[in-house]
Amino acid sequence: MITEPGKNKRCPLCGGQLRERRATLPFVVKGTVVIVKGALAEVCDDCGEAFLSGKVTDDITALLQDAVNRDVELAVVTLSQVPSPA
Ligand SMILES: [Zn+2]
Repeated sequence: MITEPGKNKRCPLCGGQLRERRATLPFVVKGTVVIVKGALAEVCDDCGEAFLSGKVTDDITALLQDAVNRDVELAVVTLSQVPSPA
């Protein structure tokens, strides 16, 4: 799911309010479980579904590929991103 940041959005699944926050997301790729921490996502208040922006999706795809290449069963990675201005 591709979303544009910074807009007031509704969850396409249940219509709940989406809020931008850092989420911990589990992925399974080719038998490798990858836990991605600190992913900036829009998370639904009601159903908890997380929607990623295109940029974050690119970052996560690279991390997943790296974990698969290392042939590990479980990897926990933290997305290092520039902190948003306070
Ligand atoms: Zn929802």
